[in-house]
Amino acid sequence: MAQSIAHPVISPADAGTPVTPLPLRAVLPWAVFMGTLMLVLLYFVGAEQGATSVFSGAGVHEWVHDGRHLLGFPCH
Ligand SMILES: [Zn+2]
Repeated sequence: MAQSIAHPVISPADAGTPVTPLPLRAVLPWAVFMGTLMLVLLYFVGAEQGATSVFSGAGVHEWVHDGRHLLGFPCH
């Protein structure tokens, strides 16, 4: 028994939409910025006021404590 598979029909209005690729030169600064931001966030969640300390006190540790345990970073 042969089964037929229905193929989607592309209407002529959808087929004419041009796709413009993003150049790497436009994306690279944002990728570097977001990567740096993620590394800073990873440092604060994973190590600040635990293994190392930039700020004194325990405020940052209290804010990220559950996330630190959730992600498996050593805490106490
Ligand atoms: Zn802890």
